[in-house]
Amino acid sequence: MQDTSVVEKQKQELQAKMRIVGERYGWVQSGRPLTVTLTKTLSSYACERRIRHLLENADFKESQRFDPYYRQKSEFATIKILEQIKTRVTANGLDAVILTEAPSDFGRYDVVVTQGYPCKVYANSEERIRIEVKASLGLDLEQLERYLWDPSPLILARVITRHVAKIEPLKLQSYVLFSLRELNAKAERLLSSKFYTIPGTTCTTCHDNSCPHNRSKSRNPVNVLTMPDSEFAEDLKSFFLNLSYVAEKTASLVVEELESVMPSQNHGIHSPSTIVG
Ligand code: SF4
Repeated sequence: MQDTSVVEKQKQELQAKMRIVGERYGWVQSGRPLTVTLTKTLSSYACERRIRHLLENADFKESQRFDPYYRQKSEFATIKILEQIKTRVTANGLDAVILTEAPSDFGRYDVVVTQGYPCKVYANSEERIRIEVKASLGLDLEQLERYLWDPSPLILARVITRHVAKIEPLKLQSYVLFSLRELNAKAERLLSSKFYTIPGTTCTTCHDNSCPHNRSKSRNPVNVLTMPDSEFAEDLKSFFLNLSYVAEKTASLVVEELESVMPSQNHGIHSPSTIVG
């Protein structure tokens, strides 16, 4: 297993580079560089010329409009999973509070679940576990890779496929280090303007019109990506058939993790007054 301090050093180096990139290209909001958005942009494309073009056109959002159904389904599934976690944590005698933002004061609560992307569960003031809910088909591996950079376990809940898995980044440190080192090298190339132009299939969606490899067709930004009728009914059916199982399995993993660090105070139903929504 890799030394976590080596990983931490690479992470800090990447964050520092992203701050420099953010300030150089004006990717700043409320006085702070958009390091997460910048890191996502950096890691999403092999062609570094395309990344630079995006950086130089900060106002331009290279995104397609998705049917809000996808987001709403994910938010709904997250609420159901949180409900199950509250019920199970209470039944196992652990005081709990659900916050919508990162906690600054834990008060008397033993367990704090913060809503967000991903949800986070704290126990004894330490981040114990994160939960990422995927309500639709597909899995953003670029996002998952970034989540591996933090050491706490990540529960990945995929509702449509009934997959619930606990991923332990500390067991994947060699990959984490590889991933961070490559992104640091890529950021360094962009900062020194010695970057690679890599034509490929993605040239059909690129907005760098001055590039000789560009093969993008006329764009219609109002296109909304959605699923055909034939898939919609099946998608909804799978979603509701699988959601209770995924919520129960996710809550079981959370309780298991919490009980490994903090013994239950009592067994049986705990006073609901300790739950704050
Ligand atoms: S058109 Fe292709 S090669 Fe040119 S910048 Fe875009 S992705 Fe890179």
